[in-house]
Amino acid sequence: MDLLAHAGYSATICSRTGLAGGRLGLPGKRWYRDPTVWSAVSFGLLPDIISMWTPFLVFYISGTAGNFFHYFDGHWIVVYRYMHSMVTAFALSLVVLLLYRALFVPSLAFALHLLCDAISHSEGKFQTMPLYPFSEWGINGIPFWRHLWFVGVYWTVLAAIWIFLVIWRRRKQNGNNSYNYERST
Ligand SMILES: [Zn+2]
Repeated sequence: MDLLAHAGYSATICSRTGLAGGRLGLPGKRWYRDPTVWSAVSFGLLPDIISMWTPFLVFYISGTAGNFFHYFDGHWIVVYRYMHSMVTAFALSLVVLLLYRALFVPSLAFALHLLCDAISHSEGKFQTMPLYPFSEWGINGIPFWRHLWFVGVYWTVLAAIWIFLVIWRRRKQNGNNSYNYERST
């Protein structure tokens, strides 16, 4: 899944402005003022920040010639596997739960990233192995970089979630307004 979609899904599912806020959401607060949006996005990008952005920076600064994805090998693949393992994701969320409960739900965006990658990567170097290092089993998903229609599908699903949320929450607001009106008359 592309980075922007990872950020979008993290905020949509694991923030109070998004689905994790339930029917109420975060009334009276704009999405960018919701700290859980930014923490969910950070957790949701963390697997790639550590395992891909860091070697990319090294690659870029050192001026190495060639394709970064060919250069990406050796120890970095091991780091990539660990950062894309549910074992790491659940250990991280457990630590967050014990140390700072308020960030527990946003921290689940890390696991969500792995779930999204599992279905949007196929067999090969970047396959997600959810049980690594205990097992190298992985789902043979649809590689999004080769199938643009799939990119269209997951962006459409993201938009559909927001349409659903807006309608669902508006209905609750309308319900509350008519209840208050009936009480005051
Ligand atoms: Zn990833």
